[in-house]
Amino acid sequence: MNIINTEEISSKYRQKGINLSEKSLSITNFKGSEQEKDLREQPNCDGFGRIRHFKLHPSEDWPINPLPIIPAAKYLGIKQTDELRAQVFQNSVCNWRCWYCYVDFKLLNGDSRFSSYLTSNDLLDLYLKEPNPPSLIDLSGGQPDLTPEWIPWMMEAIIEKNLQDKILLWSDDNLSNDYFWRYLSTDQIDLITSYKMYARVCCFKGIDETSFSINTKADPKLFYNQFDLFKRLRSIKIDLYAYITLTAPPETNFEKSVPLFMDHIQSVDEKFLLRIVPLKIFEFEPTKSRNDINKAELLSGQEKAIVIWKREMKKRFSEEERNLPITNIYEP
Ligand code: SF4
Repeated sequence: MNIINTEEISSKYRQKGINLSEKSLSITNFKGSEQEKDLREQPNCDGFGRIRHFKLHPSEDWPINPLPIIPAAKYLGIKQTDELRAQVFQNSVCNWRCWYCYVDFKLLNGDSRFSSYLTSNDLLDLYLKEPNPPSLIDLSGGQPDLTPEWIPWMMEAIIEKNLQDKILLWSDDNLSNDYFWRYLSTDQIDLITSYKMYARVCCFKGIDETSFSINTKADPKLFYNQFDLFKRLRSIKIDLYAYITLTAPPETNFEKSVPLFMDHIQSVDEKFLLRIVPLKIFEFEPTKSRNDINKAELLSGQEKAIVIWKREMKKRFSEEERNLPITNIYEP
């Protein structure tokens, strides 16, 4: 397996992904892509957006996925439902190549056939032209944090239209780089931390170095970097949540790796495990042609890992704590 040089590729894709002087970003257009085949609704916003239906119960045999449904209900003051519509925009670059990614890899390398440079104002204008636009905007990818300016730029655009109390801004982060700290000014970080309707979800990919590297094609050592990045984000005032993908090969020592992962998280924040949602991986149209790994074995690994995850959660937290809404673990 060729290991990705994350530092080098991140820098290359950052250059492709952003035009600082124009304050624009390379945004994916879904028309004609493999990903488009999996969409329940046609792409919107002239092809640059898609409506995602988040589900509380994505699978019967798996823990619920309260993200972003429960935070959205809290921020927007709406009733919690089993399904939530969100407006998703994807930046067109990502530094990793997860085998289970539901985005075509050609939508992750800034390919100009499937992307254009748009400002956050352009995106917001397209969104507002749509009939019945959802009250949640998800800045996704790709890896949005190759171009972390996207978040404060979108906040500024929303404030300019006086919609800051009506739209929940949500963003994804694959915990691969420190660009948030490297490229954002103090004023931009202040805007993010003082903005009321913003929440962020980061994604831990794998339960140990080996599964992390098989999942992402990144250097196994970067497995530990995820905890450092998480710690930095946890130290500032952001409403932070996380996913974990549990896919792992059969030789994994699940009994050791899952509790150890949890120990690492708890060494940063005792209660944060209650804000981590295990994501069940499914096959999507773009993943069908990725056959350089044994998908069946890795999918079977997630079934073993989830049993231990659930058992450990029971050991580490009371029933009352486990039943708290994800937004009520503590205030951010
Ligand atoms: S980090 Fe996210 S966008 Fe990038 S390849 Fe992995 S799943 Fe896809």
